[in-house]
Amino acid sequence: MRTLDELPWTDAFVSALPGARGGGVHSRQVPGAAWAEVAPSPVPAPRLLAWSDEAAALIGLARRPGDDDALAAVLGGNRVVPGMRPYALGYGGHQFGTWAGQLGDGRAIALGEVAGPDGPWEVQLKGAGPTPYSRRADGRAVLRSSIREFLCSEAMHHLGVPTTRALALVGTGADVVRDMFYDGRPRAEPGAIVTRLAPTFVRFGNFQLHAWRDEHALLRALADHVIARHFPELGPPGPATYAAWFAEVARRTAVMVAHWMRVGFVHGVMNTDNMSILGLTIDYGPYGWLDPFDVDFTPNTTDHASGRYRYGNQPGVAQWNLAQLARALTPLVDDAAALAAGLEVFRRTFARSYRTQMLEKVGLTWAGVDDDEGDDVLLRELLELFALEETDFAIGFRALAEVPLADAATATDVALVAPLAPAFYRDPAPATVERWAAWLRRYAARAAREPGGLAARAARMARVNPVIVLRNYVVQRAIEAAEGGDLAPVHRLLAAARRPYDADPAYADLVARRPEWARRAPGCSALSCSS
Ligand code: AMP
Ligand code: MG
Repeated sequence: MRTLDELPWTDAFVSALPGARGGGVHSRQVPGAAWAEVAPSPVPAPRLLAWSDEAAALIGLARRPGDDDALAAVLGGNRVVPGMRPYALGYGGHQFGTWAGQLGDGRAIALGEVAGPDGPWEVQLKGAGPTPYSRRADGRAVLRSSIREFLCSEAMHHLGVPTTRALALVGTGADVVRDMFYDGRPRAEPGAIVTRLAPTFVRFGNFQLHAWRDEHALLRALADHVIARHFPELGPPGPATYAAWFAEVARRTAVMVAHWMRVGFVHGVMNTDNMSILGLTIDYGPYGWLDPFDVDFTPNTTDHASGRYRYGNQPGVAQWNLAQLARALTPLVDDAAALAAGLEVFRRTFARSYRTQMLEKVGLTWAGVDDDEGDDVLLRELLELFALEETDFAIGFRALAEVPLADAATATDVALVAPLAPAFYRDPAPATVERWAAWLRRYAARAAREPGGLAARAARMARVNPVIVLRNYVVQRAIEAAEGGDLAPVHRLLAAARRPYDADPAYADLVARRPEWARRAPGCSALSCSS
């Protein structure tokens, strides 16, 4: 374990690809460059507020007693360690379906790369000040959104969902002014910086930007670098490798979105600039979790009207985003059929992963054949039941494991459905109970045919149905405490998120249904991009 100064910093990305050196931080178009050189802007009083030991281990970084101020100086952007070559990435993107031109890291600055025991990690500060890509914004992030990103990155990792990681949360000691609801009432909020880790932060939008500018040599160089470094198994560059790479990106994206559906996560802003080329969940902004199951749920206020990024639309949007990536790659592949095959990989992989994971949630194994009509119907009807009356997604699946299926034939409807009570937001109507009971009896018959029978079911389900999901209202309470200077609730949430599948009585208060006050409360169900 080493200090930040002792880590083996490298600059693989900036040394492999053309970038813009110098030029300062003023907002501008940066043509012909994959990145722009830019140092973090200093902050008045950096303070380490939270830390992830697991993320630190990825890069072999130590946090010893007395280290916090030195860590905060670097991770707050006040000191650049020798060996770091800070830069911002250039990318473009489709925002809400519309091409937006150059976007880029407007407030994220990569410090450099560190070779960890399991491969390279890019270390990036989010909220570290303006860059050439900041457009008209300030390059900063508020504490509330930084806490949300810090906690959710780590929570997703422990849930088994592919994600970027969060190493540290640093308070800047400076206020940031935000109009949280775009209602003309800006207020000053504490600023913060999240240190993020990922093998690379390259997005679909990086390729789109160079394709849009007809920078084909740069497009190719970026693809070659990303493939060589992050997909070495695909072999040397060439049209066949690019096509295979696109198919692999499609596959990983499908797996990621299937996990989102499993855990009830809604990203909220699936613009193409927020789609990782590694298939990692990236850029936690106005994300949310299903409380009551609702395919139309979107936590993003900007998206309430269109619902483009609602829970049930995430697979379709991921595929649309992949189609935009395919278009950007045509100068490299020039074989529409090969790229179409990649999109087909998305469809197939998503269908398979989704079905497998959703069946696992009810303790069933997918037989692996496409015409497994019976199980598909069972699943569809289950989700229809969840939607019939407000039924909590996370609590509901955990509660299903408690239903005494062995007694299904003889138990009354009420007795059979009783274990689901904690999941219902109101007492269900008698007709609803009757429908649930009928479904549970069919489910019991199917579950009895599983290898291991009914006995193995509950343990299997417990491995894929989280107890702890960091619901917005839960995190919002921790945010309010942190804004008042008390970080203990944030630390407690991180601890709880480390073991999301354990029913630990110590965290019973975190697993309740969303309370009524949080239904429409700011930060709980309505979140804006402005963070
Ligand atoms: P997002 O939708 O949050 O992923 O952001 C879209 C684009 O806006 C990205 O290029 C961000 O870097 C940029 N951006 C968002 N917030 C800020 C900010 N406060 N300062 C500078 N750029 C920002
Ligand atoms: Mg983004």
